[in-house]
Amino acid sequence: MSDNEILALIVRGPKQHELERMPRPVVGEGEALVAVTHVAVCGTDLRLLRGTLHDAEYPVIPGHEWAGRVLEAPSRPELIGKAVVGEGITPCGRCTSCVAGRHNLCLDLDEVGFTRAGAFAEAFTVPEANLRLLPDHLTGAEGCLLEPLCVALHAVERAPDLAGRDVGIIGAGTIGLLIGQLAVAAGAGSVTVAEPSAHRRSIATEFGLGSCTAMGDWAENQPEVVFDATGVASVFPLGLEATRLGGSYVLVGYSGEESTTSAPSTVMLRELTVYGVLSGYDQIDEALRVVAEGTVRLRPLLSDSIPIENYRSVLDEQENPPLRSVFVTGVE
Ligand SMILES: [Zn+2]
Ligand SMILES: [Zn+2]
Repeated sequence: MSDNEILALIVRGPKQHELERMPRPVVGEGEALVAVTHVAVCGTDLRLLRGTLHDAEYPVIPGHEWAGRVLEAPSRPELIGKAVVGEGITPCGRCTSCVAGRHNLCLDLDEVGFTRAGAFAEAFTVPEANLRLLPDHLTGAEGCLLEPLCVALHAVERAPDLAGRDVGIIGAGTIGLLIGQLAVAAGAGSVTVAEPSAHRRSIATEFGLGSCTAMGDWAENQPEVVFDATGVASVFPLGLEATRLGGSYVLVGYSGEESTTSAPSTVMLRELTVYGVLSGYDQIDEALRVVAEGTVRLRPLLSDSIPIENYRSVLDEQENPPLRSVFVTGVE
């Protein structure tokens, strides 16, 4: 990174992305300039790159799961040089959703990596209020996972109380395995992950979760609360059928513009309750707390760190990248 230029992965449209030089961002009122040290690749980023995200606006610099170091912070100079992480969304505070306290449903949401430049770059600007110090016990790569942990916390908050209940999780990706750890901590009677990948099931086992290859294996004892963390639309009708009569289905995976067919009678006849989960908001302090307490472990969810220059090996050459891949920028 030079004094006046940075490198950033700019997405100009579906399947049109390139690492480009661009002017170093200028901080606006209440913002900080953060040098990105680590940024994780999320399924939503892949949808943005592939053009299967609702309402995507191009050009855009993706990246909303990040850790970095503060370069400039005009109104919080004590942050300069500090390692930080942060929440990505900034609600307007005035719309009907905000007034109702549902800030992640804001009608005029500003969101890092979607409506404003994200962290697939050597530096980007963030509202100062969104920043938190990265604790010494966490690496930058682990810091990237605090954002998906906020989503997992919100999913558990939306669901009915898990204490004593049999919980099922469809899909042992990052979000599924974070929810699994939170469900154990919430005192669930049992937590069973349905996941075809043996590698991901082995991580579930490491977290003390039960696992099976497919939700059909739940037949004997269908879970009362099911989290669908797959982001695959066709799982939805099958997941509803695999949920115990009278149970709850929490849809947290994002399937973009895919659709599927599901009979409304399934929900009616089974008296299911379906919850949608969009994103976390105001959960970052809670996320830092559950990690500091050891309730949630992040390390096993990370795969290799890759220099951002080699982005094509993750973004273009794999249909489904492994568990969280993290780009490193070379910034210390
Ligand atoms: Zn994400
Ligand atoms: Zn709002």
